Amino acid sequence: MPELAYLNGEYLPIESAKVSVEDRGMQFGDSLYEVVRLYDGVPFRAREHLERMRAGAEVVDLPPDALSGLPTVIEELAGRSQMADAFVYLQVTRGACPRIHAAPDEIEPTIIGTVRPFDRLPKRLYRKGATAYTEPDIRWGRRDVKATTLLPNILAATRVQKKGGYDAVFVEDDGTVTEGTVSNLFAVIDGVIRTHPVGPRILAGVTRAAVVEAAEHLELPLREEAFTREELRVASELFFTNTYCEVLPVVRVDDAEIGTGEPGPLARDLLGAFREIVQRETGTG
Ligand code: PLP
Repeated sequence: MPELAYLNGEYLPIESAKVSVEDRGMQFGDSLYEVVRLYDGVPFRAREHLERMRAGAEVVDLPPDALSGLPTVIEELAGRSQMADAFVYLQVTRGACPRIHAAPDEIEPTIIGTVRPFDRLPKRLYRKGATAYTEPDIRWGRRDVKATTLLPNILAATRVQKKGGYDAVFVEDDGTVTEGTVSNLFAVIDGVIRTHPVGPRILAGVTRAAVVEAAEHLELPLREEAFTREELRVASELFFTNTYCEVLPVVRVDDAEIGTGEPGPLARDLLGAFREIVQRETGTG
């Protein structure tokens, strides 16, 4: 089965799935999204992804009913596509209506899903580690909401890509490191693993939560406490986490090496422990 889409109750080929030019998701980014990974056709932590979307819907006042069919959409897209390693992308927009900023009351949300095969990142990237570049964090104040209003992320990611980096390290005006454009960040500083606490300033990554569990399981010292750009100078390790890269070591930020300039042991151990969690929960591997 080729790549497949779901749109407002119908399953159809991706090319045939079309939304209105007046959809508020398209015009204003007035919508939420999620990306769920399939391991051997089995969704990993779909419930957690949908719970994050439900929390976001509450913040931006999308009707909770709009989300009620999404567990089935994930299962159907996974089942119908028969893809082993794949992503299910979900998007719920406020709907289509004549273009006006204030959202009308009577409007039907648009529900979109797609499933696409997943190309694993090259093994070499994990062996050698990734490069990142700092970018000012100019995003809005509710980054815990996975909204499609992503222009600051896109501009930063594009600048980083042009320099040959993997992702940005977002830094706030006061020097606090928040996360990447599509990932959370962990640093090892003075032997302690640190990551920005959840709250409005970062997206509470599903992978981040699993990595925190993995660290507990391995009895590694971890504090959910933000670190600064200054502290990166003395970090022995740095790594990104997300649904796509899982746990990816970063060996260089801007012009400075992190630690020895090679991937460190904690990132490696946490990647291993994360994959064990995935295997246990999806029954794969
Ligand atoms: N932070 C941001 C800004 C993201 O966009 C993402 C994923 O898209 C993440 C963190 C990681 O989230 P997850 O682990 O749920 O993929």
